[in-house]
Amino acid sequence: AEWTPDSGWRDARVVPYGPLSIDPATAVLHYAQEIFEGLKAYSHADGSVWLFRPEENAARLRRSAHRLALPELPDEWFLGSIRDLVTADRAWVPHGGETSLYLRPFMFASEVFLGVRPSKHVTYSVIASPAGAYFPGGVRPVSIWLSSDYSRAASGGTGAAKCGGNYAASLLPQQEAIDNGCAQVAFLDAEKHRWVEELGGMNLYFVQSDGSIVTPELTGSILEGITRDSILQIARDLGHEVVERRVSIDEWRDGTADGTITEVFACGTAAVVTPVGALKWDGGQAVAGDGEAGKVTMDVRSALVDLQYGRADDPHGWMRQVV
Ligand code: PMP
Repeated sequence: AEWTPDSGWRDARVVPYGPLSIDPATAVLHYAQEIFEGLKAYSHADGSVWLFRPEENAARLRRSAHRLALPELPDEWFLGSIRDLVTADRAWVPHGGETSLYLRPFMFASEVFLGVRPSKHVTYSVIASPAGAYFPGGVRPVSIWLSSDYSRAASGGTGAAKCGGNYAASLLPQQEAIDNGCAQVAFLDAEKHRWVEELGGMNLYFVQSDGSIVTPELTGSILEGITRDSILQIARDLGHEVVERRVSIDEWRDGTADGTITEVFACGTAAVVTPVGALKWDGGQAVAGDGEAGKVTMDVRSALVDLQYGRADDPHGWMRQVV
C-alpha cells in the first residue's frame, strides 16, 4: 500500500513476490526512515491457521511509526494485510501438520528526494517465509557475547522502535559475537554500561534459585517484545513470581557463578524461548546452571508453544483464527 499526505493510505493489494524498483534518490536509502514488524501465522494439526496477539504488532508498528515520523497504519489495514497474505497462497500449510509462517511487515520512506525531512511518500508491504529453526542447533543452549564497546540504543533515541537503524548499529557487535563463537550479542545501557538491556534480536529472562523470574524493565531503549510480555503472564500462570526490574551485568555474571541465577533464557517471535548457556566477554565467561537447558526455561517454552499451536487452552484470548 502507498501513502501520501493528500490521499492517505491506498492501493492495498496482494501481488506475486518480486523485486521492488527503487530510484537511487529514494529517501529510505539515505536516511533509513524505515520500520518493520515480525510475527508468525501458526497452522494447527486440524489445518486451521492462527495469529498470536497480532494487535500487539499493529500497536508496536504504530509506536515505531510515530518515532520515525512515518504515518500511522490503521489496525484494520495491518490485520487485513496479514490475513490477505496468509490466505493468498496456502502452500506453506501442510496437510494436518503443525508449522509456522514468518511474516515481515515493513514501512519505508519512498519519496524520491535528498534532504532531511520526513518523506511525503511512504510504502507499506508484507513479505512471508516458512519459518525454520532460528538457531540451527534447535533448542540447545546458546552462548551470548557481551559487547563492551558498543550500545544498541540511547535514552531519547529509537531503541523502543523496531526500525532498521537499530539493527544497523548492532551489526558490528553481532559480528564480534559470531567471531567469538556466540549466537548473539548482549547490550548494556548506553549511559552507565551497567544495566542489561537485551540481545541483538531477543529479550532476556533470569530464573533465580528461589524460583522467581526476573526480566529487565522497559527503559525506553529496549524493544518491547511481545514474547517478553506474554511470558510475564505465562510464567505467572505456571506459579512463578515474575519481576520487572533493572538487572546489572554484575548480577548476571556473579549470579550465574554463585548459583543465585539458575537459568537464563532469551525470547522472541523467531527464537521463541531459547536457553542461554554461557555469557562470554573479552577474557572470561560465566555459565548458568550446568550449561544445559533448564527446567523452567523448557516449561515456559512448552507452555507458549502449546498455546500457539492450539494444544493448550488460550486463557488470555491471545489467538486469532485466520482460516
Ligand atoms: N529485541 C529485539 C532487538 C528484537 O529484534 C526482537 C524481535 N522482534 C525482540 C526483542 C523480541 O520481540 P518479539 O517478542 O516481539 O518478537
